[in-house]
Amino acid sequence: MTDEPGEKKGRFKLALIYHPDFATRGYPALRDRVAPAYDELRARGILEREGVEVLTAEPAGEELAARIHSAPHLRGVMNSGYYEISLLSAGAVIQGASEVASGRADNAFCFVGAAGHHASADGFWGFCYLNDVAMAVTHLRDSEPGMRFAIIDIDPHFGDGTRDILGPDADVLHVNFHSGYGMGSEGGPNNLDIALPHQAGDDRFLAGVDEALRAAGDFRPDLLFVIFGHDSHHDDYGAFELSDDVYGVFAREVRQSFPRRVCYVLSGGSNPRVARRAIGDVVGELAS
Ligand SMILES: [Zn+2]
Repeated sequence: MTDEPGEKKGRFKLALIYHPDFATRGYPALRDRVAPAYDELRARGILEREGVEVLTAEPAGEELAARIHSAPHLRGVMNSGYYEISLLSAGAVIQGASEVASGRADNAFCFVGAAGHHASADGFWGFCYLNDVAMAVTHLRDSEPGMRFAIIDIDPHFGDGTRDILGPDADVLHVNFHSGYGMGSEGGPNNLDIALPHQAGDDRFLAGVDEALRAAGDFRPDLLFVIFGHDSHHDDYGAFELSDDVYGVFAREVRQSFPRRVCYVLSGGSNPRVARRAIGDVVGELAS
């Protein structure tokens, strides 16, 4: 994981992974925000900025999905009609994580058309079909078996699928923001649950972010995934009641602790106005 001198050449600040199908074939509750958010990045001039690499997502391999999920799970996803878009979404995350792990990009931001954190080894719900982050972890360890990962999931819904698959993994720290509903930590050695009230607001959320970043820093991962749901905004469908300003603050704080080796994975969120602001601020920070 060292930076050879040759790797500096052509190195990017940010790998941005996108595919137009996310906006047209994605899960309905998630897809309407995708094109407006991408257009916002173009309008802000971020896509043309020096050091920004825009990559078109390619589908993940079916055999990789079969290493994470059971055969009945995969049959269920195929029957849902979202199998192809889920493979493409997982592929985006694998590409983003690979760009970062190889040292080609300092950080990555991955758009998706279907989310991943509610996809367990043998079950899925909540607009999630394949566990994109678990697939990326497995893929990266094929070439570097000892890799350690931290995951900070700020989507306000409990990341039960990620906990199911990666929670027991001693080389994965899973920091999971959630809004309660009786769920909590189970099992794994490196699981941290940050439960916040439904109407937590920015200050309580950012206090949780400090706690999460301290834990992630102590863990010394080779790569940090941020599962980024803006359904935590007060105008979106989840909990926490966050404001417009908080996502840019969040991204700056993450960057202060982890200037490099961070892969953002888009998660929940439906409101195009919220997405434009939240994704625009996060990607703008990563591209600055
Ligand atoms: Zn959510």
